[in-house]
Amino acid sequence: MIDCHNHVGVELLTYLRGEFPYCQHLETLVHEGRLLGIDQWVVFPMVSYLALDLGALRKGEIRYGSELEKVPYAFENRRHLHEIYRLFPKEAESVIPFVMIDPNREVPGQVSALRELRGQYPFAGLKLQATIIQSNVKGLFSEGKAFLELAEEWNLPVLIHSSVLKTDIWSQSSDILDLAEANPGLRFCLAHSCRFDREYLDRLAQLPNAWFDCSAHRIHCDLAVQDNPIVAPVMRRFESDYSRPEKVLLDLAEAHPQKLLWGSDSPYYSYVADFEGKPLSLRSSYREEVDCLMALPVDLRRQVAEENTRRFLGNPQ
Ligand SMILES: [Zn+2]
Repeated sequence: MIDCHNHVGVELLTYLRGEFPYCQHLETLVHEGRLLGIDQWVVFPMVSYLALDLGALRKGEIRYGSELEKVPYAFENRRHLHEIYRLFPKEAESVIPFVMIDPNREVPGQVSALRELRGQYPFAGLKLQATIIQSNVKGLFSEGKAFLELAEEWNLPVLIHSSVLKTDIWSQSSDILDLAEANPGLRFCLAHSCRFDREYLDRLAQLPNAWFDCSAHRIHCDLAVQDNPIVAPVMRRFESDYSRPEKVLLDLAEAHPQKLLWGSDSPYYSYVADFEGKPLSLRSSYREEVDCLMALPVDLRRQVAEENTRRFLGNPQ
């Protein structure tokens, strides 16, 4: 069984801001996951990068430009693949590495860094989390198109963080669906079940080259119970009993058996912070995420944690 969504390394933003979680070791993820019955992990570096101004980051502001690095993710992607292939070759056999992209900043530099890296290490996909770095996903329609050309050249899938919150202008699910529609030859996955937005899930279901993952499933169910605007409002929300995350996953898998990919979002299945002066406490664990998967009937489990995932990855066997 494959977990299609895991972050490895250090998240500078949450570390500098005193929020949790802020890191994950590759080795810890593989060790813990194996004990729970997971066999493979799609892994990518954390989201903020050393080419952002760390002083601004510490104040919670995103400003591009740093003395440490010039090219987004050049250091992070290289470090990620080095950790996997050089430091942990045994664990490397169980992981499927993706590299991070920023669709709008220093694109030519990123492309040449990726080309150079490709000569040294294999990697299996591209990952974009546009919200934290405040870099609009729509950039993939303009200058960032260069990344889609790489994806086509190397036959790589693209996994993208998705949002429905109006103030999150960077990762709107509708923009990502437009992208998938405009690029039928490429494979896309929208993270976080499109925040349970029924209309977007139905639209996605019509696209042969699009999937969604259920990453951070349990805390999203908690947010739905609280009617938090991070998830779709009731009128647009996929119908289920959000007080029972296992039932929600079953309903999603039954409604979209070809489209759902199981992913934990480790270590972001939890999020604990002071938010606008109040404590924000969204807590789950790797075990609880796996429990939701294991509660599915065996054929659906195989579909969402293996068959669909392999199709998205481009190796159906
Ligand atoms: Zn994530």
